[in-house]
Amino acid sequence: MGRYLVIGNPVGHSVSPIIHNTIFKYLGLPYEYETKRVYKCELKEFVTNFVSNGGYGFNVTVPHKRKVMDYVDGLSLESRIIGAVNTVCVKSGMLFGYNTDAEGFIRQLKSDNIRIENSRVKLIGAGGAARAVAYALHKNGARTIKIYNRTFERAKEVCNMIGEKVYAHTLSEFTADYCDILINTTSIGLYPDIDSSPVENLDDLLPHTAVVDIIYNPSKTKFLKMAESKGNAVYNGLKMLIYQGMLANDLWINRNTVESKALFDEIMKNIKRELRNEKHH
Ligand code: NDP
Repeated sequence: MGRYLVIGNPVGHSVSPIIHNTIFKYLGLPYEYETKRVYKCELKEFVTNFVSNGGYGFNVTVPHKRKVMDYVDGLSLESRIIGAVNTVCVKSGMLFGYNTDAEGFIRQLKSDNIRIENSRVKLIGAGGAARAVAYALHKNGARTIKIYNRTFERAKEVCNMIGEKVYAHTLSEFTADYCDILINTTSIGLYPDIDSSPVENLDDLLPHTAVVDIIYNPSKTKFLKMAESKGNAVYNGLKMLIYQGMLANDLWINRNTVESKALFDEIMKNIKRELRNEKHH
């Protein structure tokens, strides 16, 4: 077993190996990051035996981000509030769970000069990623966050997690007006489902609204194309993906690579090259 890896099911199309192997190579560290398919019934055994099998750290993706919390020795405050772990570190032989999606998302917005403080946000989706995004926006001073989700109960759960200034709606109530930032966090539009959008139209979109889709494959979802055709600025989730990975790696090796623009650019270049080839399209 590799010392660093991502577990999930499926994991075959993950670009995490590109992120982490680029970092290890850049820093001259002798590690290799691998993917490992882990079925739900294997999760407990994998986590419990991770340290004795010589592991140093792992990332967690669908469908284990929540369940893995039951098997680690400790949790960061953020991961506990969000209710999802995407990174596990070994410290003194014990396992600690973190969530780097939230900070990854904020770093993306900041790098694109999108102002969060006092902003009115509309968020489509209420899954694991939405929880991290909503938490991060609230923590960074968003004025209001309206959550639109197919399953109203899940939107309500996100509101309960945050407490104030967050409002739950069903997806059918969505209108694009009166917001400064509009974000899709659903998986609708993800490759190969590239002709689908979570909403039928963005008719009422204000010209200044920044429109974000945390999907990065395809690089421009139908949702982003709809917004772009109205003249709005649009952003995909590639930067968030890179930042969450750099933050995870920093937790493992105790460095601050996330501040390195040169390394970020190198990772971006390698991912774009990979996404261009057949494996992902
Ligand atoms: P979850 O499965 O936890 O949530 C999926 C969300 O999509 C839910 O809100 C769900 O609604 C909604 N949804 C799915 N299918 C439909 C549909 N047919 N109609 C209406 N709503 C639907 O997934 P995650 O939150 O973990 O991931 C969501 C997306 O975010 C994925 O595309 C993933 O790739 C991306 N992502 C990107 C990251 C990045 O770094 N850029 C990081 C993490 C995720 P309901 O509650 O009603 O089921």
